[in-house]
Amino acid sequence: MSNIVAIVGRPNVGKSTLYNRLTESRKAIVDDFSGVTRDRHYGIAEWVGRSFNVIDTGGYVANSDDVFEVAIREQVVIAIEEATCILFVVDVTTGITDLDDEIADILRKGKKPVFVVVNKVDNNAQQSDATEFYSLGLGDIYNISSMTGSGTGELLDEVIKTF
Ligand code: GDP
Ligand code: MG
Repeated sequence: MSNIVAIVGRPNVGKSTLYNRLTESRKAIVDDFSGVTRDRHYGIAEWVGRSFNVIDTGGYVANSDDVFEVAIREQVVIAIEEATCILFVVDVTTGITDLDDEIADILRKGKKPVFVVVNKVDNNAQQSDATEFYSLGLGDIYNISSMTGSGTGELLDEVIKTF
């Protein structure tokens, strides 16, 4: 079970909600403010009989945008090194932000498969809003709602093809 799926993205896009859904570890994941680096949670997920590791990144110290940027950059670089594939989570309700663009730049230079996961697509009306994320230049987008679970099956079908 050596495959690793890393979840990256800026704060508040829903990374931990997705992680909890995938790992079904229903315990709350509370940011521990222990530091900006190596702040990761490891869990195990299963899809169509295949088990794999999932890493939730984040818990960034909420002091300033600068701290966010450095911490996120580090998490993305680590993910590119150690993950089999990367879930880059973005938020349909905010659209593309500068930080999203920065993360996309780093991911585009890495050689690992990246899935652009457009989260918070809770209803059909938001499906068309999500198309803006094609402009990140990372290929297909996967519209999901981590809250309801909608779209996660289609995403996982593609994720396990990278193993
Ligand atoms: P993280 O900082 O990226 O780990 O984000 P969290 O998982 O902590 O979620 C941030 C906020 O977004 C929380 O209030 C979640 O309840 C909310 N959220 C997460 N997923 C969804 C979703 O699919 N739809 C909606 N409407 N809200 C969501
Ligand atoms: Mg989180």
